[in-house]
Amino acid sequence: MVSSSRQQIRLFRVFGITVFLHWSWFFVAAYELDQRSGGYSALGWNIAEYVALFAIVLLHEFGHSLACRQVGGTASEIILWPMGGVAFVSPPPRPGAVLWSIAAGPLVNVALVILLAVANPFLHELSISRSAHHFLNQLWIINLGLLIFNLLPVYPLDGGQILRALLWFPLGRAHSLTVAAVIGVIGSLGLVGLALWMASFWIGLMAAFILAQCWRGFQEAQRLRDAAR
Ligand SMILES: [Zn+2]
Repeated sequence: MVSSSRQQIRLFRVFGITVFLHWSWFFVAAYELDQRSGGYSALGWNIAEYVALFAIVLLHEFGHSLACRQVGGTASEIILWPMGGVAFVSPPPRPGAVLWSIAAGPLVNVALVILLAVANPFLHELSISRSAHHFLNQLWIINLGLLIFNLLPVYPLDGGQILRALLWFPLGRAHSLTVAAVIGVIGSLGLVGLALWMASFWIGLMAAFILAQCWRGFQEAQRLRDAAR
């Protein structure tokens, strides 16, 4: 899948993968930073935390892209947008290859959990400011939060796609996608309830995105069944 690059700003290219930033990111970043007070002494720390969130997202997306390449698939673009990141990966249509391409993203967060757990006690020993301490704690929480959210078994989140790849082995390509999309719909309805309960626009938007992707999943599963006839 290749994105339209008209609405994106090209940031850089590394390992043959071009990283784009959607223009809307700046508007949401300005809004989010305006809303946060945080536990920092200066705005600079708040900006650093927001940028660090997307740096972690970017590392996660590189995990997907490089794993996809490793199993013979194509991956040439990553787009960062206000809701996170998207790696445009196209792994070979084999369950093992798809499983590795998807699992490698959360595995980057697992590696960061271990790295931060090892490094944090040493960094906290240094005579750093209260804001620096808070920043390190926030990094830990952000990374762990991203890992847990991504592993929810709700298609098309990574957890849902990992579940789909695992079901692919016994159920086949089309049926595994249908089952994952049904679970995704149930999960998105749960998110709709959560969005209403918390009066959260962002959770509502996420639920709508998940629902739309599940619909695409159903259509893709139907296309696969038709092609197999
Ligand atoms: Zn991911």
